[in-house]
Amino acid sequence: MEYSKVELIEHEEKTNLVKHEEETEILKAREAFVCINSKDKNNSLRCDAESVSGSVSQRACVYCGARVVLNPITDAYHIVHGPIGCASYTWDIRGSLSSGEEIYRNSFSTDLREKDVIFGGEKKLAAAIDEIVERHKVKVIFIYATCIVGVIGDDIDAVCRAAEKKHNIRAIPVKSPGFAGHKSMGYKAACNALIELMGKEKPKAKKEKAINYLGDFNLAGEAWIINNYLKELGIDVAAKITGDGRCEEIMNAKSSSLNIVQCAGSMTYLAKLMEELYDIPYLKISFFGVEDTKLSLLKIADFLGDKEMEKRARDFVYREEKKIERELTYYRKRLEGKRAAIYVGGGFKAISLIKQFKDLGMDTVMVGTQTGKKEDYDVIRSLCNEGTVILDDANPAELEKFMLEKGADILVGGVKERPLAFKLGVAFCDHNHERKEALCGFVGAVNFAKEIDLTINSPIWNYLKLEV
Ligand code: SF4
Repeated sequence: MEYSKVELIEHEEKTNLVKHEEETEILKAREAFVCINSKDKNNSLRCDAESVSGSVSQRACVYCGARVVLNPITDAYHIVHGPIGCASYTWDIRGSLSSGEEIYRNSFSTDLREKDVIFGGEKKLAAAIDEIVERHKVKVIFIYATCIVGVIGDDIDAVCRAAEKKHNIRAIPVKSPGFAGHKSMGYKAACNALIELMGKEKPKAKKEKAINYLGDFNLAGEAWIINNYLKELGIDVAAKITGDGRCEEIMNAKSSSLNIVQCAGSMTYLAKLMEELYDIPYLKISFFGVEDTKLSLLKIADFLGDKEMEKRARDFVYREEKKIERELTYYRKRLEGKRAAIYVGGGFKAISLIKQFKDLGMDTVMVGTQTGKKEDYDVIRSLCNEGTVILDDANPAELEKFMLEKGADILVGGVKERPLAFKLGVAFCDHNHERKEALCGFVGAVNFAKEIDLTINSPIWNYLKLEV
């Protein structure tokens, strides 16, 4: 039988599909990354691996992962060494706020062209650093290596060393060619750059009860909310890494006595390095949802081992929970029985969201992450009901298919997931770096419930006729 080119592609795509449980068709190579939750221990899920070629992963590139982590440092300069397109990833499409410096809102690029690719871009990079230093008061510059720099092999280490000597500044290379893996490798590249900024030698002295807050990017001012909670408990946040962060405080972060880690996916690696190099222990916490916010504050007070502080923490969480009780009861009545689908970056957020939906009387019918680890998925599986679809590093087709099959009323995700939900006539809540509404802490738990209610119970859904 003869096929036309288009028919041939379609035929190959069809034969490459396998029937999964509940009549779901997914690519054969993706089968191991999807599971239907059940008590069967053999029903495992593969994760933390390279994306399947051709499956159209929702993950961003290595450089983007590094930029997510470092860009919120408000007084740092960021040079994207690569073609201008890579630099289109800017502050304007993220929601990280600053209480002072604003320079991080600018993007600098070496704008590499064909000639630079042939003859090398090192001179252009050195000239870009010179120009920034000439025009601004620079303390720290991060220099990101993009795909083409990885290919042509520019020695950005050497350029940075020379610039530090010439200008008496810190110039930190970020090894993030886009093809060097996936977004998680970008997180690691950013964490390595932060260690380089701090220096590997041990601190001379430690500040008691001073903590570093890792993995909050101050979206819609969330780090400020948590800083205020900690202040109520008598805890001083010495360094915010990185939301509303300052270079100076990050350089001194090694003197703190504890690291608390909110975004575990991006910052556990840094916390482990800091424990190894500077003897700073770390706690994984989450300030999403009432339950996790309460637990996290009590855990921190307990770790710092001060009876007075523990009492203050208990009184504080009791007071704050009481304040929002009535509002949450109102939203629970309006949301009870609705079905939620979750697709977010890391495991810690997915876990907190499942708990938040449970608290609102909702059922999570689909949950997935871009960079979740085995231990995250073990917790996710223990929290979800049998039949919940759990998937790692999903693609748009899978997300659409499972949302429809499971009858999801809402999808929680980021900017790339929003059109998938809206095209299916499903409500959507933005829980990614673009969000403009603070969703953490006690106040964030109410904002979250309000947002879910507004979108799920919007009258718009009565006017849409879905054609699939
Ligand atoms: S994949 Fe490469 S070329 Fe594309 S944005 Fe990332 S670093 Fe730039």
